[in-house]
Amino acid sequence: MARKKKLLVFENIEITDTAAKGKAVGKSPDGRVIFIDNVVPGDIVDVQTYRKRKSYYEGRAINFHQYSDKRTNPVCDHFGVCGGCKWQNLKYEEQLYYKQKEVTNNLIRIGHLDLPEITPILGCDEIYFYRNKMEFSFSDSRWLTPKEIESHKEISNKFACGFHIPKMWDKILDIEKCHLQEDPSNEIRNAIRNFAIENHISFYNPRNQEGMLRTLMIRISSIGEIMIVIQFFADDVEKREALLTFVAEKFPEINSLQYIINNKGNDTIYDQDVILFKGVDHIFESMEGLKFKINAKSFYQTNSAQAYELYKIARNFADLSGDELVYDLYTGTGTIAQFIAKKAKKVVGVESVPEAISDAKENARLNKIDNVEFFVGDLAKVFTEDFIHKNGKPDVIITDPPRDGMHKNVVNQILNISPKRIVYISCNSATQARDLALMDDKYEILKTQAVDMFPQTHHVENVVLLELKK
Ligand code: SAH
Repeated sequence: MARKKKLLVFENIEITDTAAKGKAVGKSPDGRVIFIDNVVPGDIVDVQTYRKRKSYYEGRAINFHQYSDKRTNPVCDHFGVCGGCKWQNLKYEEQLYYKQKEVTNNLIRIGHLDLPEITPILGCDEIYFYRNKMEFSFSDSRWLTPKEIESHKEISNKFACGFHIPKMWDKILDIEKCHLQEDPSNEIRNAIRNFAIENHISFYNPRNQEGMLRTLMIRISSIGEIMIVIQFFADDVEKREALLTFVAEKFPEINSLQYIINNKGNDTIYDQDVILFKGVDHIFESMEGLKFKINAKSFYQTNSAQAYELYKIARNFADLSGDELVYDLYTGTGTIAQFIAKKAKKVVGVESVPEAISDAKENARLNKIDNVEFFVGDLAKVFTEDFIHKNGKPDVIITDPPRDGMHKNVVNQILNISPKRIVYISCNSATQARDLALMDDKYEILKTQAVDMFPQTHHVENVVLLELKK
């Protein structure tokens, strides 16, 4: 018989700090760090460990001796089970404090950088209902909460439309009310789920690869335009038409109602045909008089209001006079490029996703901006001497890479060009710190400003202004 590993319980552990992935930390009596779920700094708890490693434990709180005064009551019924908003139990000012701290620590500890006086983190005015896009998954084997299991009642409804349980690819938590997207988001999702149950439209089973309803995307733009994209796995024309007709009639305010029939193994939509059922195939976002056309596959910052604040900071840092050639690296759908175009002589945007570049070009045309140019390509490969020769040597570079940060080739090329200013926007201050360290000999950090785009989560953006050393 296999011997069961002994799991340790530690008593009276004080939680001292937050940690990656929305966890918090305390210290065990043997000196190891313990990463703990669903506690906040200032709590004192008994911890049941469930994993032991060389330098740390992972565990969960099984008994509270003291609740921290940094706590607040989570507003959401799904808190603790849903992996979406792990910091709902932490007061918003504390969330901001810990986000700021993480950014500063990363810049100092990973980057070993000399920092200027740090501008306080910019929080959101709206700390709930701030997302313009949500993606839900359907499942025919709903995740049961501990409460339901303990109640020993017969489970009649096995269907779910909601979010993946963290680390479980086939388990979906049914969501009744999500506090991240404004109405009619919840109404639409619940109506679709209920109609499907009542009309025997099957829900997807990812293990057996069967069932009709697969995913649901809801976009509600800052000017109130609504896009719905329903993704089916198996198709049944009659049932599909019935569902889509129901949605169109019940929610006449929907501007764009589309669907996808995707019977491949994964549910990414980027290689799929999106079929229009009613309305138009796009919605609009608007920012400072600019319009951005968004289709089912377009990328757009998910917190529109705070994206505006982020872009204003980037524009202020860039401090353009109108004479500059600016490169906007990792331009996405070219929103930053267009946002700053009026203040620059010319902006060149580069991005690896071809569809994003088509959107960028179309939006620039719609906005009647003619001093921007966009190029498709992996920056690690296309950002060459030849590219710079053809497009001109930039005076200012704005860069906004994904979580991995910039490829070394990209950093080296920036150093070769040596623009007078660099604005580095990052959603991962650890990789940002790594990249900044590589530029440390040539550039001085003049400003660093963290921005919270995602209240209730541990995610944080950071904008750094670099100036060429004299
Ligand atoms: N600045 C944009 C988007 C930033 S997200 C905005 O504010 O909306 C980062 C972008 O980098 C994504 O659009 C992603 O497709 C792109 N990207 C990721 N890796 C890349 C690479 N190696 N080369 C070029 N673009 C890349």
